[in-house]
Amino acid sequence: MTDWTDPTQVTRASALEMADAMRAGTVTSVELVQAHLDRIAAVDGPVHAFLYVNAEEALATAAAVDADRATGAALPLLAGVPIAIKDVLVTKGMPTTAGSRILEGWLPPYDATVTAKVRAARMPILGKTNMDEFAMGSSTEHSGYGPTHNPWDLERIPGGSGGGSSASLAAWETPLAIGSDTGGSIRQPAAVTGTVGVKPTYGGVSRYGAIALASSLDQLGPCARTVADTAALHEVMGGHDVMDATSLDEPVPSCLEAARDGAANGLAGVRIGVVKELGGEGYQDGVKQRFEEGLDHLRALGAEIVEVSCPSFKYALAAYYLILPSEASSNLAKFDSVRFGLRVERDTIEKTMGATRAEGFGDEVKRRIILGTYALSAGYYDAYYGSAQKVRTLIQRDFAAAFEQADVLVSPTAPTTPFKIGERIDDPLAMYLNDVATIPANLAGIPGMSLPAGVAPEDGLPVGFQILAPAHEDARLYRIGAALEKALVAQWGGPLASLAPELEVAP
Ligand code: GLN
Repeated sequence: MTDWTDPTQVTRASALEMADAMRAGTVTSVELVQAHLDRIAAVDGPVHAFLYVNAEEALATAAAVDADRATGAALPLLAGVPIAIKDVLVTKGMPTTAGSRILEGWLPPYDATVTAKVRAARMPILGKTNMDEFAMGSSTEHSGYGPTHNPWDLERIPGGSGGGSSASLAAWETPLAIGSDTGGSIRQPAAVTGTVGVKPTYGGVSRYGAIALASSLDQLGPCARTVADTAALHEVMGGHDVMDATSLDEPVPSCLEAARDGAANGLAGVRIGVVKELGGEGYQDGVKQRFEEGLDHLRALGAEIVEVSCPSFKYALAAYYLILPSEASSNLAKFDSVRFGLRVERDTIEKTMGATRAEGFGDEVKRRIILGTYALSAGYYDAYYGSAQKVRTLIQRDFAAAFEQADVLVSPTAPTTPFKIGERIDDPLAMYLNDVATIPANLAGIPGMSLPAGVAPEDGLPVGFQILAPAHEDARLYRIGAALEKALVAQWGGPLASLAPELEVAP
């Protein structure tokens, strides 16, 4: 039982426990927000999950929620529960950089749809979290503002591009966070920090006001330490939006109900497909071991495990690294020194644009702009971009065939546990390989979840278990994820993050 008068215990509760305690009158939103701000002050120096802390506004939101609650007014489920937002989402009046120096000092004049939904849900926004520049990366080392460190071991990466969001959860700086997933940037950071992250069906969450990386792949999603918390946040974020032309006009999935059903009733009759191509060679032994144990739990819960094959997945990474840079090179053309952020003045406008982009963009961003403009150039368009789009269709067909045999598909989320900061920064291909298991879902637009599977015996670091469902069937992720989580948490005695070594606290 949480002692709500003890701020160190308060930050270890789940978001839904916090919501219950506020409703019961045991804790106030101001107390919750203050406990998290104190935790950020105590540990974020070395972790560096936050680029901006929004203390004053968060406390004001909390105070308003407390006042309304005191009158007995009806409030949304997560009202008063604090949240952190990846710096890819625009937030009116709050600096937004997408991890890039080119946007340093820019104050957005409007809110992203998801930001507006979080505000409408009366959730205090603790601040903006660090990320690889324009969400390009798997380690947060490509941030223009310095890397984020993994709370499990400060010398290791917290995943990327959403390493700020995942680290803030594992460091107990926030119970909820928002991420964006173009090739795995919600799921892989969740895997390597022992937290939960979900990429919804493409179009399920509005992208309006999310700074675009690759528009046909990008999707915003919920991050937390428990499956039920991600479910509750998904329901806040989701829904149709006329401001996003790719937004699905259908009801938000019943994520929380599905999570509760899975935890209560087990998985009798559920068919789970193990993707043959997402495992084996190149995957760390401890990752494979924890994944296999996850399968044993699913069997014990009543599920039937079958093997499925997706032969085109071996081309997914190559296709992704043509499609993504092509779309990114086009999306990033708007950073031209005229409209937003940085401007490095020269004697002509062409030179001003060139100098601004040379100074404002980091190496990885430049690499991808060059790759993308090359892949889209007249002479190579068919050979590169055109072929990659055909591979994308083959991958979608592989998924369609696999979902004939199974209700969901599963794999390890990432091939290894978190690596050391600096280890892969000079080797783009080694960095890109982190996402072999997550990228196929983005190419097909289907939803995916990563939840903790335990720690690898050889290094004591977190391993992620990935679940993939057909498009529009996001609720299945929550049902199966919550059932598996319940079995695992019974062994750990709490969320996996509670097994991480204690961070040193600044005086
Ligand atoms: N790591 C992948 C990349 O660098 C995924 C990025 C993402 O999902 N935003 O492209």
